[in-house]
Amino acid sequence: MKRVADRLVIAGVGLIGGSLALALRARGVVGEVIGLGRSAENLRVARRRGIIDRTERDPERAGRGVDLVLVAVPVQAIAPVLGTLVAGLPANAVVTDAGSVKGPVVAAAERVLGESAGRFCGSHPIAGTEHSGAAAALVDLLEGRRCILTPGALTTSPTRRRVHALWEAAGMRVEEMPARAHDRVFALVSHLPHVAAYALVNAVADADRAGPRRALAYAAGGFKDWTRIAASSPEMWRDICLANRDEVLAAIDGFGAAVERLRVAIAQGDGAALMAELTRAQSTRRRLGTAPATKAPRLRARRGARRSRGR
Ligand code: NAD
Repeated sequence: MKRVADRLVIAGVGLIGGSLALALRARGVVGEVIGLGRSAENLRVARRRGIIDRTERDPERAGRGVDLVLVAVPVQAIAPVLGTLVAGLPANAVVTDAGSVKGPVVAAAERVLGESAGRFCGSHPIAGTEHSGAAAALVDLLEGRRCILTPGALTTSPTRRRVHALWEAAGMRVEEMPARAHDRVFALVSHLPHVAAYALVNAVADADRAGPRRALAYAAGGFKDWTRIAASSPEMWRDICLANRDEVLAAIDGFGAAVERLRVAIAQGDGAALMAELTRAQSTRRRLGTAPATKAPRLRARRGARRSRGR
C-alpha cells in the first residue's frame, strides 16, 4: 500500500487520533507520527503504546516539515488548535479533522486557514466507543466503518484525494456529503441517542433519590445497552450539542413528540394506538439489522482490548 504521509501530526491523540495512527502504522503507510496535545500524561501513554514517535509541545514547531495534519480534539477546540499550528505548516501540507459536527467546524477551519483553505477537507470517521484518550485507542476501531468527508467549496482536488487515501488506508469506506446534510443526519442517528441516553440515566437517578429502593441497582441488559453511550466524555458531547445546536434541538423536539404519542396512548389506555406506535418502531428497527457493535474485530490492538463500539 502507498504511503499516505511521510510526517503526520496528530493534534489530540485520543480515541480517534490514536486509533488512526495505530491503523496506519500497522499497515506501514505512514512515516513519522508526531503527537500534539494538552495533556502530557496522555501523550506519554501514546508514546508508550507506540502510537506516536515523539511529542511536540510547541504547535508551530510541530507543523514544520509535515505533509499531513489530523486535528482530533473536541469540536469547539478544532479551529483554535488549527490556528496555533498553521504558521509552521509547509505549503504542501494537507489538513483534516475528525469532528462529529461539520458545518461550523469547516467554516471556522476555513476562516483560520484564510488563503490556504484549499488544503482543508473535513472528515468524520463513523466509529467510536464510550472510552477516551490514547489508552482507549484500538488498531481496528476504524476497520470496515464509514468515514464521511465534507469538502468545502474551497477544498482542492489534491486535498480531497489525499484525505480519501488517508481514511481508506485505515480500512474505512469513504463517502462524501455536504456538511449541512451531515449535521442533520448525525443529529438524528448519533447526537440525539447520546442526549437521550444521558437524560435517561439522570431521570432514573433522580427518581431513585425519591424512592425507597434503588432502581439502578437492578439495571440490567435493556438499561445498560441503551445507556452505554452515556459513559462517553461530557466535554466532547457538550461541544457537539452546542456546535450542532439547531439540528440537535430539532431532533430533541421530534423525539419529544414521539415520547408524547406513547405517553398519551398509555394515559388513555389506548392499546390500538400503542400497538401502532410499537409495531412501526419494531419493523423499522428490524430492517436496520445488527448493530456494528457486535461485529468481531479483524485486527486486535492488544489482548483483552475488545470493547463495544459504534456511534
Ligand atoms: P478523546 O477525548 O479520546 O481525545 C481527544 C484528545 O484531544 C485528548 O487527548 C485531549 O487531551 C485532547 N485535547 C482536548 N482539547 C484539546 C485542546 N484544546 N488542545 C489540544 N488537545 C486537546 O476524544 P475522541 O473520541 O478521540 O474525539 C476526538 C474528535 O473526534 C472529537 O471532535 C469528536 O467529536 C470526534 N469523534 C469522536 C468519536 C467517538 O466516538 N469518540 C467518533 C467520531 C468522531
